[in-house]
Amino acid sequence: TGTAIFGIGIIQDITDQKKAEERLRELATRDGLTGLYNRRYFLERGEKELARAIRYDTQLAFIMFDADHFKNVNDNYGHDVGDTVLKKIAEVSFATFREIDIIGRVGGEEFAVILPGTSHSGAKQASMRLKELISETKIKSDSGELNITVSIGIALISKKTKNLDNLMKNADIALYEAKKNGRNRIEIFSES
Ligand code: GH3
Ligand code: MG
Ligand code: MG
Repeated sequence: TGTAIFGIGIIQDITDQKKAEERLRELATRDGLTGLYNRRYFLERGEKELARAIRYDTQLAFIMFDADHFKNVNDNYGHDVGDTVLKKIAEVSFATFREIDIIGRVGGEEFAVILPGTSHSGAKQASMRLKELISETKIKSDSGELNITVSIGIALISKKTKNLDNLMKNADIALYEAKKNGRNRIEIFSES
């Protein structure tokens, strides 16, 4: 009957509206290339997770990683292959970390992960897994297959941690060390 059709029409409208809302939310929170959280949303979620960890005195790890010699990939294979590499890195990251971990693309070829309830050894294990999986990933291009590596910096929550910026700075220092010490490696920040 006409009523039934009318009813379906309304359901359809609601479904469309829900889809549109979902799409808008994705645009606001996710990076268009990789589908990971964008920097702004990553930081927003991260601050909340850190506040929770401080309040309940639980562990938390912050991992930062950056593609090695990525400029060479763009220069030698082209920007599109560079984009494919970034998508692959995102895919591997997504498969490596747990559902409760917060993964973001925080810069051009720079990524960060917040691991709630994770210790020094847990963060190291996850980082080693990530490093291995990325180095084993083959990326296809018109000019043949290529490999990519990442350098990783880890920072752990401590009594000194006041905000996410503290953790991010420490992870960045460790990442810088990993680059300096030869790349495709992991360094852990420690207070000295
Ligand atoms: P390092 O090992 O020290 O990290 O060297 P690098 O070459 O990776 O570092 P650098 O910061 O010099 O280069 C980063 C490059 O990443 C430069 C920039 O053009 C490229 N890049 C940033 N965002 C994107 C992107 O969305 N797509 C592509 N294809 N390239 C990007
Ligand atoms: Mg780089
Ligand atoms: Mg970089």
